[in-house]
Amino acid sequence: MPELFIGGQWTEAVDGRTREIRCPADGSLVATVDEAGPKDTAAAIAAARHAFDEGPWPRTPVAERAALLGRVADLLVRDKDLLAGAESLDTGKRLVESAYDMDDIANCFRYFGSLVAAQAAGRVVDTGNPVVDSRVVQEPVGVCGLITPWNYPLLQTAWKVAPAIGAGNTFVLKPSELTPHTAIHLMKLLQEAGLPDGVANLVLGAGPEAGAPLSEHPDVDLVSFTGGLLTGRRIMAAAAPTVKKTALELGGKNPNIVFADADFDTALDMALAAIFLHSGQVCSAGSRLLVEDSLHDRFVDELVRRARLIKLGGPFDENAETGPLISAAHREKVEAYVAAGIAEGAVLRCGGERPADPALQGGHYYPPTVLDGCRSDMSVVRDESFGPVLTVERFHDEAEAVALANDTVYGLAGAVWTTDEARAARVAARLRLGTVWINDFHPYVPQAEWGGFKQSGTGRELGPAGLAEYQETKHIWRNTAPEPQHWFAG
Ligand code: NAD
Repeated sequence: MPELFIGGQWTEAVDGRTREIRCPADGSLVATVDEAGPKDTAAAIAAARHAFDEGPWPRTPVAERAALLGRVADLLVRDKDLLAGAESLDTGKRLVESAYDMDDIANCFRYFGSLVAAQAAGRVVDTGNPVVDSRVVQEPVGVCGLITPWNYPLLQTAWKVAPAIGAGNTFVLKPSELTPHTAIHLMKLLQEAGLPDGVANLVLGAGPEAGAPLSEHPDVDLVSFTGGLLTGRRIMAAAAPTVKKTALELGGKNPNIVFADADFDTALDMALAAIFLHSGQVCSAGSRLLVEDSLHDRFVDELVRRARLIKLGGPFDENAETGPLISAAHREKVEAYVAAGIAEGAVLRCGGERPADPALQGGHYYPPTVLDGCRSDMSVVRDESFGPVLTVERFHDEAEAVALANDTVYGLAGAVWTTDEARAARVAARLRLGTVWINDFHPYVPQAEWGGFKQSGTGRELGPAGLAEYQETKHIWRNTAPEPQHWFAG
């Protein structure tokens, strides 16, 4: 069956190109899928435009749109095991982690369903003029181009698709070329839930060919992108001539600040989870450990001891604690950052070499790696290596901890560990980050916005602001007793 989904039809790529999808854990062939190019994306944009301008969805009552999101959530729960398995084959991620995400994905659809339902009446404005009925309503933006990465394929897709269709838009989705399978299945579920033809469109393929037309095309009204900083800059520039709305969720170099009075065992355990879950391929990974001087030696010694024990393995290996990197090219990039860090003076405390285990040779494995003695001017600290690489910096006091944490172009997320509540609140207030965790790391809920300060992006996903990205605000002023005003004598 062909894998591009355009105007309600499953179709092959116009020029017949395909791509092999291989599991990063062992290089096995998962499937061969259609590979879209600019002509396919143009066809998908035309289908989405037609469905927006002529189709029923933007004019469907809000309660019906909300009900559809609820049905999609039910279908996601029904197909949870199938989806988790597909996600793990594409990404190499442990099955238990993929399964964990599926519940969050269903909840995301339910949340946006309830949020749009609550907006149905619009907002009445008190103008002070009794003959005026003034109302502010939310309308869909139009055709949305949705571009997503490979690290949390269906989760990142859900954060965009649920608010986009909840708000009444139509869309063209371009998932990462490396991880297409859960996006393909989502199209089937949207169709089964009753979404009209042309509202959801899917193109699979490389960014420059299949994705770039979404940020350039005049018939696309909004482009929502999750991915790397450099791609985000390109998308923003490409969207400028048509003044497209852009929502960008980019990378992070997320500080994890540990004060000496923190609960040692919990802070340590969570410092490991912060960076080594999914082998560090997490936008909010706690890749920069900032630790108070007096705690440094004991904390880092124990961290290194435990990092060495982390077991690598494939998605279905029940003993594995974390998996491979997504591709050979990505592993080489991670290795280059580690080498650069060492060359700039960092001390390699563990990891740093491909595993020797013969069972892991078919996959793109890289071990948990800790670099001590780091400074914020090192490239391994400044740039996102997006691998299992933890850099350690020391600080002497609260002011220095805040200064170091903010010494980055990124501003996505980070944490502070201390038993001093007043200090936690002061530090949280001064961190230039979209999410601050106090004595925790990684949790998020669909009700709370997610996104970055500074070059971690523009706009927000999730929460009311995550719905607002996909809406235009319209003020309707109705004069119930119109009369001439005689501004001009003649
Ligand atoms: P990437 O930027 O290489 O690719 C992301 C998507 O953009 C892919 O679908 C790709 O095909 C597409 N793309 C590439 N070039 C394009 C172009 N010129 N025009 C249009 N589309 C193009 O990122 P990646 O390697 O897939 O993902 C990892 C990055 O994603 C990391 O930087 C990570 O921090 C970021 N990320 C951020 C968040 C967040 O919430 N802020 C979440 C997950 C991942």
